[in-house]
Amino acid sequence: MYDYMIVGAGFAGSVLAERLAKYGKKILIVDQRNHIAGNAFDYYNEDGLLVHKYGPHIFHTNSREVFDYLGNFTEWRPYEHRVLASVDGQLLPIPINLTTINQMYGLSLNADEVEKYLQSKAVAVVPVRTSEDVVISRVGKELYEKFFKGYTKKQWDLDPSELDASVTARVPIRTNKDDRYFTDTYQAMPLHGYTKMFEKMLAHPNISVMLNTDYKTVKDFIPYDRMIYTGPVDSFFDYCYGRLPYRSLDFKFETRDTGQYQAAGTVNYPNEHAYTRCTEFKHLTGQQHHKTSLVYEYPQAEGDPYYPIPTSTNGALYRQYQQLADAEPGTFFTGRLATYKYYNMDQVVAQSLALFKKIQRLDAEMEKTDRSELHAV
Ligand code: FAD
Ligand code: UDP
Repeated sequence: MYDYMIVGAGFAGSVLAERLAKYGKKILIVDQRNHIAGNAFDYYNEDGLLVHKYGPHIFHTNSREVFDYLGNFTEWRPYEHRVLASVDGQLLPIPINLTTINQMYGLSLNADEVEKYLQSKAVAVVPVRTSEDVVISRVGKELYEKFFKGYTKKQWDLDPSELDASVTARVPIRTNKDDRYFTDTYQAMPLHGYTKMFEKMLAHPNISVMLNTDYKTVKDFIPYDRMIYTGPVDSFFDYCYGRLPYRSLDFKFETRDTGQYQAAGTVNYPNEHAYTRCTEFKHLTGQQHHKTSLVYEYPQAEGDPYYPIPTSTNGALYRQYQQLADAEPGTFFTGRLATYKYYNMDQVVAQSLALFKKIQRLDAEMEKTDRSELHAV
């Protein structure tokens, strides 16, 4: 008898497995894949290069709680991600910053001048609702078309005007020279990789791991008290309201016989090629090796559900499923797929830590009620 069946061994499921096991609960964690770590899974390829199976995963957070929590299971390697965009035959820093503008137009503006320049190009949009609005209201049409329009169309198969503002708002616009992709307080990679970190999280005697198993094939045979579900929410309810749209990717890996292939961890291709970006893992992992491994990301409609697609129609459909989820007895939904949220890893960890605290509160309340009922008897 398990206290919890947890569906999905990614961040959402593994954090809860670890927390609940330490809290004395017996856990069965089930994943349909042949490995733990969900989309953060990494492994050494045939040349001995550490690669991320489901695309580049760079850890960054402003939450001390999340960083310290994961620090119980890994040492960290400080790493600040940098990205270049291939635009008009040049490789330019993205997020757009002072250097991007100066290099692109052959100028030598300072921060104040670049701010004025952008203001002169910005298109007034009130209210800012879409991913197009966010960018044109800050930098105008030309930079929007060169850096965002083509990339977004490839990535989502939607025009930015059809996507929530939150998508392109992930990429800021700067007038200083900061060329880091993220500005979070904590930016670091697990020193020995994500999978090793997950192995440590799940190495508790109260946790059993069952791989290569769709939970639907075992849930009626294995006794458990409560469920934590981190798979796609529409699948849980047998698509009763129709399918929630997800965007998928095809990852093409290449190994090059050279120590270093490109100048930055990632190069984005907004306007050329069928892929959106190319990432060279050694920048992220810091591995020393005479060869180097790259991954190219080709967006596609079919395949594993990687990205919830933030549009107002999809949000409305999700809310219907959310009502069912809230009413589902003995089952908690958490993670990127189960709550249909375009979350980064740290946000998923924070969500699961919050759910653990909620479960503790619910248990304490139930105990209190049980005790007072017993007293009354
Ligand atoms: P997942 O990792 O998807 O885990 C869910 C698990 O549930 C899966 O392993 C799946 O096999 C399992 N499952 C589903 N259905 C069933 C079933 N029926 N039975 C059994 N098991 C099931 N975040 C960052 O912070 N930084 C990054 O740089 C970054 N890069 C990314 C790049 C790409 C290409 C993608 C797609 C995502 C990226 N993310 C990044 C986001 C990150 O991957 C997610 O935030 C995180 O993995 C979500 O964890 P999760 O546990 O919610 O979901
Ligand atoms: N984006 C873009 N051009 C870029 C980088 C990003 O248009 O060079 C847009 C695109 O819509 C993308 C979104 O901004 O999906 C968020 O980018 P991010 O790098 O955060 O995407 P992720 O790493 O989550 O795939």
